[in-house]
Amino acid sequence: MIIVIKEDQLNKIDEIKDRFEDKHEVFVHNNRIAVQGITRDDLLFEEVNAAEQIIEDVPKSVQGSRLFHPEDTIIRTAHSVIGGDNFTMMAGPCSVEGADHIKLMAKVAKAGGATVLRGGAYKPRTSPYSFQGLGLDGLKFLRNAADEFGMDVITEVMDDEHVDLVGQYTDIFQIGARNMQNFSLLKAVGKTKIPVMLKRGMSATIDDILNASEYIAAGGNHNIMIAERGIRTFDNKYTRNTLDVGAVPVLQKLTHYTVIIDPSHAAGHTEFVTPEALAGVAAGACGLIVEIHNDPAHAFSDGPQALKPDQYLEMAQKALAVRKVVTTPVNVKSEVKL
Ligand code: PEP
Ligand code: MN
Repeated sequence: MIIVIKEDQLNKIDEIKDRFEDKHEVFVHNNRIAVQGITRDDLLFEEVNAAEQIIEDVPKSVQGSRLFHPEDTIIRTAHSVIGGDNFTMMAGPCSVEGADHIKLMAKVAKAGGATVLRGGAYKPRTSPYSFQGLGLDGLKFLRNAADEFGMDVITEVMDDEHVDLVGQYTDIFQIGARNMQNFSLLKAVGKTKIPVMLKRGMSATIDDILNASEYIAAGGNHNIMIAERGIRTFDNKYTRNTLDVGAVPVLQKLTHYTVIIDPSHAAGHTEFVTPEALAGVAAGACGLIVEIHNDPAHAFSDGPQALKPDQYLEMAQKALAVRKVVTTPVNVKSEVKL
């Protein structure tokens, strides 16, 4: 249950907290107090009187809910402001392939307006025999490249034992689709203050990802982004996954966390990446994370979906144009007489 306290009764927040926190989870945000597992009948008369509103139908993922936290979460890193009215471009190769290569990719990414450089050093591959990433060397190459070009780093952390190490090199943790419900990993990143981009599992419902994100928030880390990267439906003959564009406004209604679109893993083929990116921006996403490569045929991973530099630059310009349309208010002067 969430109790919205009247502005002149804010002292009641501590009283309610003290009364329930021994036996219930209690969270406070401004004049809102969420108490898990109680009903209106558990409140005292004066507590009900102090309430501007009592919301009884509350999701389990309460800290991520707009009912508890109506304002957008804004994440500030060294080079980016993510969420709200801002638009964030993140780009880079699927995998970090070497020191010089990632620098080249950083230069391209930055030219398209990216403030965040992506690249996997630890790769979650479907086969154990596929390239698994450069590991620690990859983290170092990525960090150096980002620093040289004045960018932030986003890179995947695959298990809880690596959180400390990856955290020394990255500005944003990526949790991959395959790990969306790796609860020990979610708890481990939840104990840090480093922003987290949680990718939707390929078979995860919207509530599944919201509940997964709550594990991070429950640990005290509220710097969360949610990435839609395509889900499994009945047809993957022409695209790798199905981009759930409709999830963008739904998530934005339900949660205050920033929603990012990953068109690369959804499309799976270069030619479909730009249209899917633009659809995601048109649906209201606050950012994109895209895979780029100068020589996709020889990429260490995910070459078939990489945008070449020129394709990326064109996509980035179009994405900004679409974003402008989405965020510019229009005055509708209706000629229609009703
Ligand atoms: C990736 O970003 O390269 C990746 C493996 O993404 P996902 O977890 O969405 O498949
Ligand atoms: Mn990839």
